[in-house]
Amino acid sequence: MAGRLNKRELFRRTLAVTGGIKALEAIPVWSGLLVLNYHRIGTPTNSRLDEALWSATQDDFDQQVRLLKDGFEVIGLSELPEAIRDLQAAGRQLWKSSRFAMITFDDGYVDNYELAYPVLRTNDATGVFFVATGFIDEPRLAWWDEIAWMIRSSKRDTLRLAENWLDEPLKLDRSDRRQVINQLLRACYRLDGCRTKQFLDGIAEETGSGRAPKEAANEQWMTWDMIREMSAGGMDFGAHTVTHPILANLTAEEQGMEVCESRLRIEKQLDRPITSLSYPVGKRESFNDETRAALSKHGFDWAFSYYGGHSSGADIDRFDIPRVAIESDVSMADFRSCCALPHVFARH
Ligand SMILES: [Zn+2]
Repeated sequence: MAGRLNKRELFRRTLAVTGGIKALEAIPVWSGLLVLNYHRIGTPTNSRLDEALWSATQDDFDQQVRLLKDGFEVIGLSELPEAIRDLQAAGRQLWKSSRFAMITFDDGYVDNYELAYPVLRTNDATGVFFVATGFIDEPRLAWWDEIAWMIRSSKRDTLRLAENWLDEPLKLDRSDRRQVINQLLRACYRLDGCRTKQFLDGIAEETGSGRAPKEAANEQWMTWDMIREMSAGGMDFGAHTVTHPILANLTAEEQGMEVCESRLRIEKQLDRPITSLSYPVGKRESFNDETRAALSKHGFDWAFSYYGGHSSGADIDRFDIPRVAIESDVSMADFRSCCALPHVFARH
């Protein structure tokens, strides 16, 4: 493998070779809450969408859930307050029962129902699903998937966009257009809601692909029937806004609408209170004090971020519960290292 290994990778490899991970798994050396975040389960065979969203194959996910069940108390949202009380009372005692894990999913992709839900049921584990209600109500491609779709559908060899979008033209002549997609996703993260539409329209025009047709979103998202079935089967649900904007890019009023409307929509469909949300994109800069104020005002108890880390329980910030990204490049060795020593491996 080319390139230099960073210290963490070197440490992980040393642990793997010496059997250190097994030792750490046998003697839990930390106490706290580890929240994992997935998006899609399965394999992105020939997909024109954003393949970075596929977190694990169904088999890998099954192995990961078993590992969590062995080493942690896997909890849902309703058990979170008690887990935190437990951690705060226990201080830093090294009991297995003081290690809690949550398995969360964002967005609402259909494979959550088709592939993740059966694994969770078989393993008797609660999953927590944060859904963007607009995708469920009016299925269409999410902006990251649509950017990938437009770039992969393009017959042109160069992409030029106005300078305020892209500094220089991008080459489209390679079979793998992943880098171009990543560059455009990074540019899109910085935009507020109305400029996102202009940006997508610009890419549609300059790739010659046009905006993705509605059919491109067929069978991408769960339906409310699936969500109700999962809820009845013991899975938990939370809000992920209506249109999946980066909340910090919106006005306070718009933020209030996004969090409140998504909550009410899920409550109406499931007939149970919804008091948790995960921030779209979930970086430190993706939410702000106005977001926190909106969450308080609209009755939320918990909100989850997505920039890595775990919580000892004592330090918990109820509107910034850290989550670790499980992405397609996370191997089983990475996963086990992260569970055994999140202080070292659950950071980004
Ligand atoms: Zn999301």
